[in-house]
Amino acid sequence: MIHPNTCLRFISEDMGYGLFATAFIPKGTIVYVKDALEIELTPEEYLAHSPAMQEVIEKYSYIDERGFRILSWDTAKYVNHCCQCNTMSTGYGFEVAIRDIQPGEEITDEYGLFNLEYEMPLACAKKGCRGMIRVEDPEKLADRWDEQVRAALDVLFDHPQPLMNLLDDATVEDLVDFVQDEGAYRSVRALRYPQRALHPFG
Ligand SMILES: [Zn+2]
Repeated sequence: MIHPNTCLRFISEDMGYGLFATAFIPKGTIVYVKDALEIELTPEEYLAHSPAMQEVIEKYSYIDERGFRILSWDTAKYVNHCCQCNTMSTGYGFEVAIRDIQPGEEITDEYGLFNLEYEMPLACAKKGCRGMIRVEDPEKLADRWDEQVRAALDVLFDHPQPLMNLLDDATVEDLVDFVQDEGAYRSVRALRYPQRALHPFG
């Protein structure tokens, strides 16, 4: 489920739709939670669909640490990638704002944590755009991503969190532990799905 202070907007023919903040969303806010209504497809379920349906599923889903395709039931599936993204996946089943997001600003994400099964050319048009999402991105960039996530989680309990009540008790306890003791952090490395037997990278 996506944060309530967001809305869907058409960007362009090339980009399609994107998600935008309708109010200020401070760094450390939970912006997306993998909730109980998300549609989950095992690799086998995905492959049982027609090629046309697979294309649609691939466009709108991400692959989690179990290799399942997660298709959001709400507008969360329209969040675009940006190499200077303002939200990031975490090892806690949610995405967090890694910097302050202003009203009207597009909500963006790091697709490098989505276990994409193909290289994806990028057109962020931002300084520092890495041009392509590659299979080795998490290996190279996980330390930097963890640093950004840690800094955001440090201030998690300082802000209103409309999505916090969707987290399970164990996750909330782990978050409290983390804020009190840095040692309890769940790295974004845990999001990596190592097996790509179904569609190996060329
Ligand atoms: Zn980029």
